[in-house]
Amino acid sequence: MLTANAYAATSATAPLTRSTIERREVGPHDVLIDIEYCGVCHSDIHTARSDWRPAPYPITPGHEIVGTVAGVGSAVTRYAVGDRVGVGCLVDSCRECEPCRRGEEQYCAMGNTQTYGSIGADGRVTQGGYSTRIVVTEDFVLKIPASLAPAAVAPLLCAGITVYSPLRHWGAGPGTRVAVVGLGGLGHMAVQLAQAMGSDVTVLSQSLKKREDGLRLGAASYHATSAPETFSALAGSFNLIINTVSAQLDINAYLSLLAVDGTLVNVGVPVGPLSVSVFQLVRGRRSLAGSVIGGIAQHQEMLDFCAERGLGAEVEVISADQINQAYERVLASDVRFRFVIDISTLA
Ligand code: NAP
Ligand code: ZN
Ligand code: ZN
Repeated sequence: MLTANAYAATSATAPLTRSTIERREVGPHDVLIDIEYCGVCHSDIHTARSDWRPAPYPITPGHEIVGTVAGVGSAVTRYAVGDRVGVGCLVDSCRECEPCRRGEEQYCAMGNTQTYGSIGADGRVTQGGYSTRIVVTEDFVLKIPASLAPAAVAPLLCAGITVYSPLRHWGAGPGTRVAVVGLGGLGHMAVQLAQAMGSDVTVLSQSLKKREDGLRLGAASYHATSAPETFSALAGSFNLIINTVSAQLDINAYLSLLAVDGTLVNVGVPVGPLSVSVFQLVRGRRSLAGSVIGGIAQHQEMLDFCAERGLGAEVEVISADQINQAYERVLASDVRFRFVIDISTLA
């Protein structure tokens, strides 16, 4: 067994604390990664606090991992010691079901293995990237383009792919109008990626506080959802709405913003059910959809897309012992736009 320094949640209410975790020995197909940076995703907080389901404590969150290869198994062909690599939300899947065979491991019919909180290849609960090292099978390791700064690339591995995948699936590009609801970690990547794909992008935020940033990131327009006139002024406007908000929104008000044949995709995950007025769907042949991260091949496509265009996350780098304050600031929508832990502070 290998050990790693880490930060872990021990209950839904206690702050994360420093701990030591175990990693499996490097098997023939495994890559040992010395972690340099790990992004702080809102899903880490949902998991640490058991918002969605009871978490298997103690749990080390973190699924926006960038580091360098420190060792490889005897059968590894694609990576060598010293390579800069990434790991996102997935560390394995069945590889045989229909979604896996078409490269959509995120929809694995057997249930994929997530970076933290799943049962890993060694039969134990997987532990994430708020830690000094991790062992991952090579098929779920990503190549990080050399031109991207490692701290800015870490959030691409969850926030980036989570919005890239639906933008591609629902055809963002020239001639389409895309609205992004919530300008947080996912939202600020959605604005940059949709604009880079050629869409006309609008931000729908709770307030106008982040308007300058939203326009700088590539939005053509920016509206406060707290202003009563926003919904009437924008009715029927968008081909695609990417909703990154995990709070319960009035989903019918957002459906009313879709053009004919438009789709509202939820990537934010509210805890409770939504109440949908079917009138809002039939009126414009509109669709209400959801999407979760992306497949491994699409992660690589997204990383290469970002490298070609010089896109990355806007990050605030923190030391590991600032993680609990960072969680409070994410919950208060007070981050521009992603916290990233400098893992050297855990050494
Ligand atoms: P985040 O950085 O906290 O961003 C969420 C944004 O939502 C905030 O910046 C804020 O933007 C807006 N917001 C927050 N509270 C709100 C409220 N009460 N009412 C309206 N808007 C509110 O979070 P994130 O990391 O981007 O993640 C967003 C959600 O996506 C989380 O639920 C996360 O678990 C989920 N997620 C899903 C996937 C997937 O694969 N589907 C992957 C990653 C994350 P404004 O201030 O601009 O309004
Ligand atoms: Zn995430
Ligand atoms: Zn599968």
